[in-house]
Amino acid sequence: MKDSGIIFDIKKFAIHDGPGIRTTIFLKGCSLICWWCHNPESQKLEPELILKSKGSIDNQLADSMETIGKEITVDEVLEEIEKDKIFYDESGGGVTFSGGEALMQPEFLTSLLQRCKEKGIHIALDTSGYAQKEIFEKFIEFVDLFLYDLKIIDNAKHTYYTGVSSDLILSNLELLSKKDKHVIIRIPIIPGITDTEENLSQLSDFIKSLRNIHKVSLLPYNKMGEEKYRRLNRVYKTENTKSPSSERMIEIKNYFEKSGLNVEIGG
Ligand code: SF4
Repeated sequence: MKDSGIIFDIKKFAIHDGPGIRTTIFLKGCSLICWWCHNPESQKLEPELILKSKGSIDNQLADSMETIGKEITVDEVLEEIEKDKIFYDESGGGVTFSGGEALMQPEFLTSLLQRCKEKGIHIALDTSGYAQKEIFEKFIEFVDLFLYDLKIIDNAKHTYYTGVSSDLILSNLELLSKKDKHVIIRIPIIPGITDTEENLSQLSDFIKSLRNIHKVSLLPYNKMGEEKYRRLNRVYKTENTKSPSSERMIEIKNYFEKSGLNVEIGG
């Protein structure tokens, strides 16, 4: 097991990453490259340079760059997590491991999960579900709540928009369902990409086939990450995509609710 890994942020007093007050640890690295990702600085596993301020990379000096991502030990992460244990206990909160994709650093994550479990801290894992089954299975027993991102069912379309197939993601979610794990499914609503009639229907059918899905959270697309693409000198492929209107979000919520699912907007 690894006693250190790479993270790019720690968010204290988080209230949207699971129940209660939480500390969210953002591990660096992701196997996907979703067109709409609002954390593009999370995708590479290794630390990387980003412009500190707005502007083009051509007219900035090297000293206006900063490094995203740093190596940190398990002990150091635990120290940060434990500082707010009293708030977790009072609010029914805990720790959430997010990314990027936390499963990209399996040994580091295993150490963190084991240590949090020993301390009796509630653990949520925010995941794309993209990991080989043998790796994914190892984490199941440690995690109290899965925040599971589900984007596109169709394999070819999933590959086109995220860079990887949907097979592993769907089969790992089925595995969680069979094991009766506590799961909240999170669907990013990206106009013209994830909210097509075909995809919504396939998502609804797939989710209905699972058991023990606590809730479905619909996350409206936002452009929060746009500036970061420029600062990283990368192409933002959903630059011209608009956020869905609140009427459209309610329409989609109603659609899923008709299938008997417990649905919320945001979360
Ligand atoms: S899975 Fe999440 S972190 Fe990874 S590229 Fe997609 S949106 Fe970004």
